Amino acid sequence: MSLGKKIVVATHNAHKLAEIRAILALSGWEFVSLNELGIADMPVEDADSFIGNARIKAQFAHEKTGLAALADDSGLVVDALDGAPGVYSSRYAGPDSNDAANNAKLLQQMQGVPDALRSARFVCALVFIDADGTETVAEGTVSGRIGKEPQGHNGFGYDPLFYPEASFFARSMAELSAHEKNLISHRSQALAKLRTLLADAEEQVEGPQAAESEEPTGDMQATGDGVSARGPQPVSTVSPCAAQQQIVVFDFDGTLIDTSSPVKLITRLNRDKIMSKRAVLKSLAWGIRYKMGRELDQTVPRRYVFASFKDFPASEADSIMRDVYRTELRQHLRPKAVAALKRHQAEGKVVIIVSASFEPIISELCLDLGVEHYLCTQMEVVDGSYTGETKSPPPESEHKLYQFVAWADASYGPDGWELTHAYGDHYSDVPLMEIAQHPIAVDPDHRLRSIAHERHWEVHDWLS
Ligand code: IMP
Repeated sequence: MSLGKKIVVATHNAHKLAEIRAILALSGWEFVSLNELGIADMPVEDADSFIGNARIKAQFAHEKTGLAALADDSGLVVDALDGAPGVYSSRYAGPDSNDAANNAKLLQQMQGVPDALRSARFVCALVFIDADGTETVAEGTVSGRIGKEPQGHNGFGYDPLFYPEASFFARSMAELSAHEKNLISHRSQALAKLRTLLADAEEQVEGPQAAESEEPTGDMQATGDGVSARGPQPVSTVSPCAAQQQIVVFDFDGTLIDTSSPVKLITRLNRDKIMSKRAVLKSLAWGIRYKMGRELDQTVPRRYVFASFKDFPASEADSIMRDVYRTELRQHLRPKAVAALKRHQAEGKVVIIVSASFEPIISELCLDLGVEHYLCTQMEVVDGSYTGETKSPPPESEHKLYQFVAWADASYGPDGWELTHAYGDHYSDVPLMEIAQHPIAVDPDHRLRSIAHERHWEVHDWLS
């Protein structure tokens, strides 16, 4: 395969061109649009698949210019509508339709469809034709559900009606920031895959050293089937910037330790008669539902724990929680997890613990393991006592992802970091694991285990 260094992008959309330039930036490549080459027309897109339409556009651009060419095609696929609007996404409500009309038609078509049958995905197909006519294809998807009403004002197209799985269907794509959307979007996943394939092809043409010198992250591998084995890669992990801080995330409960810190804390509060029997039983029943993947909201045990602390000064409650770490949790640290954490630290990576457990427990853990960064649940203190309210949303479920990204952006700048490894044990860790180059499922629950198998993620059964 001969990769032309000048690549014409078959689009008249300046936003898409900018995104392609940013993500596919391999050194020595230059991306130009059809407009910039003085070509104003576009072929009719009449194929019945996204890849077919992308191919029509890439072939057109290649034939018109003789250059290597790249084209994309994308749209929304809704299961309950037999895949519609599909390749007709931009003109679903008619030839001159706009986003509002398309969304109105989608809502009307989905009227009466129950939640369980509202699954959908955005698909992006990319076709690259190199200067000698060799074709490379990459596809990216993001799964979600069609909502019953539009929400949010960001993005475009069907974003206000599309509730991605990565947000546990709680926020629409139009409620995500551009950066959050880029981390999960079909387009960024397709571009990341294509970049891996092209870097690999270039390495075959120019030899490993040439490719290595252009690839400071040195972490691009394609498997035999030509698709990255690491699953979706976010924009930030494929940026060619050499100075990116490499970050590793560890979840705490069930990952670094082989038990649950809320359960140990509640058991202690029961033993010391600080918490009522009824509250203990209700909290433990919640714990069982959580472990079985039926429950994600951690408000219930939090409410009971902090209700029992209401007659204590916060400093006394803190020392009970720190003591629970030292006497009940420390012995449950998984030796293999601690060894992995230490190895990453020795490699110069920044390690951060992201856990919904309470700050006194997590800060004690970090002191113990020499970890400088953590995100955890911080409770509000007024007049020296806990109020039972959280200071800000705890890092649980999709908030683990949002808070991690906000922390990493604030610490290293939006293009200044990459998440190399994310260790988690529970389905609720998936949104954060999804953006890591190496998501690692540790003794996973049933749902995470099947997701890990589906996406070829590493699974470690690290029983201590
Ligand atoms: P195209 O690939 O630019 O032709 O996009 C086709 C249509 O699919 C758009 O007009 C949108 O209606 C829809 N679409 C594609 N990607 C997205 C997205 O990221 N958000 C919302 N709608 C999208």
